[in-house]
Amino acid sequence: MKTIKMTFILMCIFVTMFLSGVSGQTDTKSRNKQDDITKWSNKTIMWVGPHQDDENGCLGTLSLLKANGNKIIMVWYTTGNKGSLDLEMTSERLAQIRKTESEKACAEMGITPETDTFVRLGYDDGMLEYVPEKELCEKICRLIRLYRPDAVFTMDPGTTWMQWHKTDHRMSAFITLDGARAAAYHLYFPQHRINEGLQPYTVRDYFFYSTKEPDFNVDVTALSDKKIRAHAWYVSQFGAGNLKYVGPEPDQEELKIKLKDNAEKIAKGEKVYERYRRLSESMSF
Ligand SMILES: [Zn+2]
Repeated sequence: MKTIKMTFILMCIFVTMFLSGVSGQTDTKSRNKQDDITKWSNKTIMWVGPHQDDENGCLGTLSLLKANGNKIIMVWYTTGNKGSLDLEMTSERLAQIRKTESEKACAEMGITPETDTFVRLGYDDGMLEYVPEKELCEKICRLIRLYRPDAVFTMDPGTTWMQWHKTDHRMSAFITLDGARAAAYHLYFPQHRINEGLQPYTVRDYFFYSTKEPDFNVDVTALSDKKIRAHAWYVSQFGAGNLKYVGPEPDQEELKIKLKDNAEKIAKGEKVYERYRRLSESMSF
């Protein structure tokens, strides 16, 4: 009897150790620490955001991933056609300017419409919350099923607190996650499967930026000059260009100063990071 009892106890200890070992392997944080995404290759990476400058928050990471042979899909909800204080600007002209600026910035980082996939959903800037949510959800769901990304980069929809910048960011963050969730279940938007043969797909890795809860940093110090050059292309968004558009060329004097400042910081050993809240699990529940 004593032997049986001991065997039972030992078995319980063994099972407990085995289970804790398994859960350790799948623990999000420990897996993330070991997983250097800048070494990834042959994966599909999707960035989704509302405006033609929002990509700037993770262009360094996307650039590193592109250089390693990953496929990059860029998705913009809006045309960015409203955010100018220049009274002579029109929505049509601004949309064209924003498209060009964004392409120039991406090109600085090695991401182009010719070599990568650029998707523009074409909604009006600032108006995403007035588009039927189901329509937006269906569009993202379809893109997820079509491109089947290994990882999605998008703004943080928030956890314990919510960092809302403005309407489109809020909507984009929620809808991107909602669309990705729907993509996993064939009964949501079944027309994708029936009409186009698009099968369900589950996203298992999210990198949320513009976050107040970062837990995953990517060192982009080596690309910090390029990032500054990329940022300079958003002439109509930042500084004097928003008040009175003077583009398309960036202000070269201002750029020189920023590059010089950056060189000094790097020489002192400062690092440049892009910070994310990483969620390495399916949101399909
Ligand atoms: Zn934005």
